[in-house]
Amino acid sequence: MNDSIAPGGLAAVLAHPDDESFGCAGALALAHDAGATTRLLVVTRGEAGSPDGTADPTLGDRRESELICAARAIGLDEVSLLDGYADGGVADQLFDRLVDEIAAWLADRRPGAVITFGPHGVTGHPDHIVVGNATRWAVERLADAGTAPNAVYVISPIFDPSGNRYDLSPEEQSATHRIEITHVAGRKIEALGCHASQADITDELAALRAAVDGGAPIYEGYSRVRPFVPAPHPDFDRALL
Ligand SMILES: [Zn+2]
Repeated sequence: MNDSIAPGGLAAVLAHPDDESFGCAGALALAHDAGATTRLLVVTRGEAGSPDGTADPTLGDRRESELICAARAIGLDEVSLLDGYADGGVADQLFDRLVDEIAAWLADRRPGAVITFGPHGVTGHPDHIVVGNATRWAVERLADAGTAPNAVYVISPIFDPSGNRYDLSPEEQSATHRIEITHVAGRKIEALGCHASQADITDELAALRAAVDGGAPIYEGYSRVRPFVPAPHPDFDRALL
């Protein structure tokens, strides 16, 4: 870890390069602009992100570069990748080890709030689901040591401009917080554009550009799951930190 970066701030723990750009680029960009430290932990290198899902180390290298490109667009202070977790195979690894590794990463950095995936991982991808569950268990482990972040949010993409395409869990359907990201939407578009190896950015980019061009306010949704609050939170339209 880079000791010159202040502890605290907002951290996201996600599964693949590009999850940050789809999921929470706006909230991270806003936190960065507000002076908070912003960090991202990604569990896999996305080496299976090809049309037929075949793992390819070269693609992993490319996606790591795309992730760095997106991190610059968003304004992330630190990006970390775990070793030893295959794209598409996170659930095959020892869950307890993943919880330990995420807990250690969080304990070193002490973010005030953490964003991760909810029970259906937005898209239902098994890696998303396992990483979200492991992150929440990691926070419980930190709570036992008195070092848990103040809040854990799961991505609740009900304000997705392209509409609700997924089978979301109740937690993911009921955002407690709605973050207006209109004035950083250009950076979310730029970050998504970094992930040029991924065919599914095309629809998201088109929908986001159309929403921006139409002058509509752009939102990201989050559900605060720790401490639990019913939706909507009294600070529905305020920042996560
Ligand atoms: Zn993903």
